[in-house]
Amino acid sequence: MNELIERFDTHVTEEKKAGEKLRCDACPVMCYIAEGRTGACDRYGNFGGRIVRCDPVTILDHALEQGAPLVAFEKGENWSGNPVNTGRRFVTAIGAGTTYPDYKPAPFIVSQEVEGVDLVTVVTEGIFSYCGVKIKIDTDRFVGPEQATVRAKGEAVGHVTTGEYGSQMLSLGGVHHLTGGSKAEGRVTCDTLLALVNKQAVELAIDGGETLVVQAGKPPIIGGKEELRMRVGCGSATIGMFASQWRGLVDEVVVVDDHITGVVSEHQAGKVLGWEDTGIRINGRRSTPGRYFKVSEPGLGWGGTAITDPLEILEDWNPKKGARPGLSLLMVSTTGEQFAYYELDENLKPALKPFPERLRKSVELIEDNCEPALCSVLFVGGAGGSLRAGVTENPVNLTRSVHRLDTYVTCGGAPVYVWPGGGITLMVDVMRLPDNAFGYVPTPALVAPIEFTLRRDHYERLGGYMSEIRSVEDVLARGGEYHNPRSETAAPAGNPWPPLRQLQRGGE
Ligand code: SF4
Repeated sequence: MNELIERFDTHVTEEKKAGEKLRCDACPVMCYIAEGRTGACDRYGNFGGRIVRCDPVTILDHALEQGAPLVAFEKGENWSGNPVNTGRRFVTAIGAGTTYPDYKPAPFIVSQEVEGVDLVTVVTEGIFSYCGVKIKIDTDRFVGPEQATVRAKGEAVGHVTTGEYGSQMLSLGGVHHLTGGSKAEGRVTCDTLLALVNKQAVELAIDGGETLVVQAGKPPIIGGKEELRMRVGCGSATIGMFASQWRGLVDEVVVVDDHITGVVSEHQAGKVLGWEDTGIRINGRRSTPGRYFKVSEPGLGWGGTAITDPLEILEDWNPKKGARPGLSLLMVSTTGEQFAYYELDENLKPALKPFPERLRKSVELIEDNCEPALCSVLFVGGAGGSLRAGVTENPVNLTRSVHRLDTYVTCGGAPVYVWPGGGITLMVDVMRLPDNAFGYVPTPALVAPIEFTLRRDHYERLGGYMSEIRSVEDVLARGGEYHNPRSETAAPAGNPWPPLRQLQRGGE
């Protein structure tokens, strides 16, 4: 870092000084920073009489010999799928710094020639006042009602949103929690989001629901208990998958599920296999044969229901439709974690019996087919007008180019999903970024790395800052405006890189 500092003249002017302090102008907070100290966000500091971006700018190396996965764009063609691969380096926005206000060009605008195509990558650490996370928690268990407020340290930071397959979903952050509530709400929301996107554990409490510990890539902890498995399917799907394995071993099977409880003798899968009626009656709302909704309230019990005794979902058995003493019954949850075996007694009441070995394999098969329960954290942010102005002098051109796929967007080198419609609202799995790729400013807002890669001639037509374009070698040799140190690291596995042939065609 010192070497870099020595090579540069400071960009901090005399007017920016206040006493012995220097003013950082990388965000609207405009901290005055004393020598040897860092500003409010800890991203910038005053070292040696200059404002320095403290974290290294991260340069990813996707060299083939490091075994980085490749994505073939067109099968059979001799192309690696990676315009910045095969020994080339890719300057990410991690540690690149932010230019503020954004009429100034982005911190790094880097050119690379790849297979004869001149590409430009514009990198900046964007300040996202409009941002949040979507969290997918793999569990059957009820964490709280939809729309319930999610709190961190007592402050509202988001809400429970509609559940997905085998998962509960949270939506945290967003501009209303960051800017529309009290100062404490905005600060805690920002802290919570920052920890989550940087893959750290966060404790959350849901109004009318559970306490959770959530960490990207780790199992959720719900009400103090670590979740192990994500369900193999709903109760009906489980019947469909395993009906043939149960045929001939047991007279009836019920897969208990808060959403769709399955009954094999009534289910289409059982009918096809010639399963006979058993006279079973389920206390729930019948949807279609062998599929029942709402057998219980949601909870932490069997299959995400509130029940701990599965017999609670059964009504009296009907002897006219096949119920008889000795009829055997397997009840199992959607993860195979809970199971029990019964036989009807003389009064047609299920009596608990030792679990027979002949059924153990099928229950274990349900467990084996479950996936490990994980928390997935997706960062969602809107690259607004000001950020885009650091890329081109005509920001809407960049938006159009991104939507036409002429410009490829990455976040710390990771591929993003760009939402349709206006603006550049992107979504990225934080597990695909290097660690600690995100920062914050106390406005409050998150700071996220963002890179735009496009053809050089296309960049020129968009109104790009052509005089600011530099080579990777120059970036490596001379650093940036904020005297960044640099680190080179292998890219996280699994990140495909900008589709070169798409970019070759783009911008025509
Ligand atoms: S919060 Fe950080 S980026 Fe903003 S002015 Fe202070 S040191 Fe600079």
